[in-house]
Amino acid sequence: MRTPRVIVIGAGVGGLVAALLLAARGLNVTVIERADAPGGKMRQVEAGGVRLDAGPTVFTMRWAFDEIFDEAGAVLSDHVRLHRAQRLARHAWREGERLDLFADVGQSADAIGAFAGRAEAEGFRRFCARARSIYETLRDSFILASRPSPVHLVRHAGIGGLPNLARISPFATMWDELGKYFHDPRLRQLFGRYATYCGSSPFAAPATLMLVAHVEMDGVWRLEGGMHGLAQALAGLAQARGATFLYGRHVEQIRTDSGRVTGVSLVDGETIDADAVIMNGDVAALRAGLFGDASRDALGGAPRAQPSLSAITLAMRARATGFPLVHHNVFFSQDYRAEFDDIFKHGRLPAAPTVYVCAQDRGDDDAARDDERLFALINAPAGQHARDMSQEELRQCEETIFQRLAACGLQIGAATATRTTPADFARLFPATGGAIYGQASHGWMASFTRPGARTRLPGLYLAGGSVHPGPGVPMAAISGRLAAHCLMADMGSMRQSRLAAIAGGTSTR
Ligand SMILES: Cc1cc2nc3c(=O)[nH]c(=O)nc-3n(C[C@H](O)[C@H](O)[C@H](O)COP(=O)(O)OP(=O)(O)OC[C@H]3O[C@@H](n4cnc5c(N)ncnc54)[C@H](O)[C@@H]3O)c2cc1C
Repeated sequence: MRTPRVIVIGAGVGGLVAALLLAARGLNVTVIERADAPGGKMRQVEAGGVRLDAGPTVFTMRWAFDEIFDEAGAVLSDHVRLHRAQRLARHAWREGERLDLFADVGQSADAIGAFAGRAEAEGFRRFCARARSIYETLRDSFILASRPSPVHLVRHAGIGGLPNLARISPFATMWDELGKYFHDPRLRQLFGRYATYCGSSPFAAPATLMLVAHVEMDGVWRLEGGMHGLAQALAGLAQARGATFLYGRHVEQIRTDSGRVTGVSLVDGETIDADAVIMNGDVAALRAGLFGDASRDALGGAPRAQPSLSAITLAMRARATGFPLVHHNVFFSQDYRAEFDDIFKHGRLPAAPTVYVCAQDRGDDDAARDDERLFALINAPAGQHARDMSQEELRQCEETIFQRLAACGLQIGAATATRTTPADFARLFPATGGAIYGQASHGWMASFTRPGARTRLPGLYLAGGSVHPGPGVPMAAISGRLAAHCLMADMGSMRQSRLAAIAGGTSTR
């Protein structure tokens, strides 16, 4: 029998993982990517003659990648050099008002005690236990399951597991629930920020997302060569397992015949046949009909949800003084509710944003450098609000960012910066409106409305941050693995049914 041919549209982490696992199983895999390098959002840009990460910077859930490399017959640490961070992040509110979180919970509790008092440290310990229990309840039943529904969760939990399921608090907002653990508003803000890892507001996201805090406390790693190095490693290994990569090529249509995927056609006019296609772009592109009518209908009548956060980012080569930066740093706004109201209710840039800064040349230490690679990010609205900004708007926005940093003591001098705005993200990732985490996780049903790997169109599969289990590098990687597994399972049963048809003389399809 001929080797099945699979096309993967997009070399984001979800597409790369799917391509790697299918190539490792001997399938004939071609990855078609419109950019000139792998990684998608995990991209690098140039600033002042150096290259630096301009996408994800926080690497968690290492186990997911250990498993994926293992499944592909390789060892993660042979392909990417990882260092476990002892200091997770440094948080600042004003000059001299700082709090570090550590890999060690006891060390973090001590730091919180010194910063906000013993009762808050006690609240933190209770919070950690709760975040862990939510994560443990959902790891197998939701994150790793192929497309779970609320009914599936209840079935998976069984009678004995129902109390745990109740404790994931899908109906309370994250912000309200955090109030049970923290009275100091700064700590509520710090732990509420984890909702933004899913592109959401802590005031609208379900308390279930407190599990993200556990994921981070479970381990953060720094990757030599940056996060983009992981994309290079996945692409390199997929190639070594036989996958072909076509860069700088844009897929225009997913072709079908008799209700089944038959391949793709590219903007340059070429058509490539395939038995199956995995789409790694945002599902918003399918919904918008960018790949043709047949694939638009593949999602069924799934509702159009609120887009997640976008961002304004500055990748810089600069000199930083006056504040002891570590690798990950957060400079909090004074009014968190106003920040998210600006973004999600009023569709405008926050007047006073929280600023994240990744000092990419630094590790756990905070020794100053003469000149270093810095990446700054503020949250911004997506969708219809992701329009091109005028030079004056951009100047004002950057001034606001630097003022927030200066209020905490950080001066950034003589920066050469490469900026990415929501409109740029919208151009880079078609049909997203600049939303970089798919749909927002607002309300208890949001996580169940993301499509799974299988679609209604036979031969079309989905992988990526807009698909179950959701955004973030490890989650998108898991979605790629789910897509590869679903495709293999379906091909297996298709072959079985063809064999049965041949043996019995009547088609079973
Ligand atoms: C600024 C920023 C910071 C982030 N920070 C973190 C973080 O610290 N930690 C974390 O875990 N996550 C973070 N994320 C989220 C994380 O990067 C994403 O969830 C994840 O990388 C998405 O991967 P994906 O598989 O959905 O593919 P994507 O990265 O979305 O890539 C999809 C690919 O498909 C290609 N494509 C689309 N349409 C076509 C077409 N028609 N033809 C050919 N190619 C096409 C695109 O060019 C793109 O390369 C961040 C994201 C951004 C943007």
